[in-house]
Amino acid sequence: MLNVPSQSFPGPSSQQRVSSGGRSKVPLKQGRSLMDWIRLTKSGKDLTGLKGRLIEVTEEELKKHNKKDDCWICIRGFVYNVSPYMEYHPGGEEELMSAAGSDGTDLFDQVHRWVNYESMLKECLVGRMAVKPAFPKGMLPKSQVTDPLAKEGPSSPSYDWFQTDALVTIVIYTKQKDINLDSVIADHRDDSFRAETVIKDYSYLIHIALSHEIQEDFSVRVVENVGKIEIVLKKKENTSWKCLGHPLENHNSLIPKKDTGLYYRKCQLISKEDVTHDTKLFCLMLPPSTHLQVPTGLHVYFKLTITGTEIVKPYTPVSDSLFSEFKEPVLPNNKYIYFLIKIYPAGLFTPELDHLQIGDYVSVSNPEGNFKISQFQDLEDLFLLAAGTGFTPMVKVLSYALTNIPSLRKVKLMFFNKTEDDIIWRSQLEKLAFKDKRFDLEFVLSVPTSEWNGKRGYISPALLSEFLKRSLDTSKVLICICGPVPFTEQGMKLLHDLNFSKDEIHSFTA
Ligand code: FAD
Ligand code: NAP
Repeated sequence: MLNVPSQSFPGPSSQQRVSSGGRSKVPLKQGRSLMDWIRLTKSGKDLTGLKGRLIEVTEEELKKHNKKDDCWICIRGFVYNVSPYMEYHPGGEEELMSAAGSDGTDLFDQVHRWVNYESMLKECLVGRMAVKPAFPKGMLPKSQVTDPLAKEGPSSPSYDWFQTDALVTIVIYTKQKDINLDSVIADHRDDSFRAETVIKDYSYLIHIALSHEIQEDFSVRVVENVGKIEIVLKKKENTSWKCLGHPLENHNSLIPKKDTGLYYRKCQLISKEDVTHDTKLFCLMLPPSTHLQVPTGLHVYFKLTITGTEIVKPYTPVSDSLFSEFKEPVLPNNKYIYFLIKIYPAGLFTPELDHLQIGDYVSVSNPEGNFKISQFQDLEDLFLLAAGTGFTPMVKVLSYALTNIPSLRKVKLMFFNKTEDDIIWRSQLEKLAFKDKRFDLEFVLSVPTSEWNGKRGYISPALLSEFLKRSLDTSKVLICICGPVPFTEQGMKLLHDLNFSKDEIHSFTA
């Protein structure tokens, strides 16, 4: 028996059904949600038509299966019969059909890189390609990886290492100035060491099976202006190492970030506090063997196995309160990450998350997203439009702007919710608006009680044109928007109608 609610899901009026127009979401028919798909995969039905056999698929054979009711797609060398999945795919049939009978790795990596299709489609597995249609992404011989990039991307980084009796230091020369501690994500697992350095839109990887054992924790230092990173490992035994180790997959390669896989580590649930009637503040602790700091405006993916299928959903780290960023600077070895997460009783992922006990683990990915801190440069007016948990990216954006942007004159948050009870961190926001005269706050409720004196309704031209007043005619502005997809899409349209340029708008999406 599956541990899932029996009601139809998502509910008939849910935005998961009605949202459209976005690149990757089409309305799903009733009974075709992710949860329905998981149910089908567990039903024992033969989804490949091969009665459990796995076959070797030639390119000629793959090409033949190119119709909606007989559609095979190759993803990373494995071939899936996706016909049964057609109606469940959030990107729609058309998107899947564009890869019918061919290698869909690029399509899946570009649009749905974070979804674990290997797990989602495991019951649809037909077999392996007899001859791989192409090298899987990132597995190209090094010369093929680096040469074309040298022309377009940043100049190739390099690395070196040296040792003392007790320490081994790996030095990465990024040849870029704007490198900081957020740029490096390092993990030590068993005898392997992995350090990913994000350099603009590229990722440089050190990935080594170490020749000797090291202690669990290590430190990372960055010499910012020269872009030099030092990772200091502690030897377990004071012996001299003849070599650092041997290279693992993609070691010493520079790959466009969009082509890299997501890397996860298990984080422990430390605490969980109620914030509103349905939203909680989760605190997770990174393992001692990980260095990871999520930059402002980026999110991570959580991964849990739910009834045997790996499910991945994005969440946006926040600070533990709106005031913590104004205390001491965050320590580089900070091990705690906070999340404000709304629990949907009929949801797939959040009830599982809510059932985690203190001390349990959840897998957390490297940071993702396209917000760039350079968007703040010389900024004078910052407008934040948030709906519901769309507030989460605004937490760090708001704190960062108030603390680090000397040119900033005004920050205004317009926060859309159904009722007063839904407003996350209301009293903290009001306190901040009281303390910092640069910060203004406006709550808009769609289902207010009769006592509500504030603004009511939905995002609209009237609300926006009144709210988005520049402090000077020439002010440099940035408008950040985040919320349910249709809210964000409508907001973007209204902002364009109000003549804000693309550079003046940032929408948070997956
Ligand atoms: P689902 O199974 O997806 O369903 C949730 C409930 O809402 C159901 O009742 C369903 O009927 C309805 N529903 C379905 N889709 C939507 C929708 N798009 N909008 C509104 N209602 C819907 N959430 C947080 O709480 N905190 C965060 O920090 C956070 N960060 C995010 C960052 C990004 C980049 C993105 C894209 C999303 C983020 N989310 C965040 C949302 C989160 O990823 C999940 O979508 C959410 O937790 C619901 O997951 P679920 O599986 O429990 O619910
Ligand atoms: P919610 O409570 O359902 O909605 C918040 C407010 O937005 C309500 O007033 C709601 O009005 C209004 N609203 C909803 N749809 C609208 C639309 N189409 N047009 C105008 N107003 C609309 O929100 P939630 O459940 O917290 O969901 C938050 C959403 O933000 C989720 O979809 C989540 O995925 C997304 N999110 C995205 C990111 C990111 O970085 N991309 C980060 C965090 C959260 P009514 O309900 O009364 O209609």
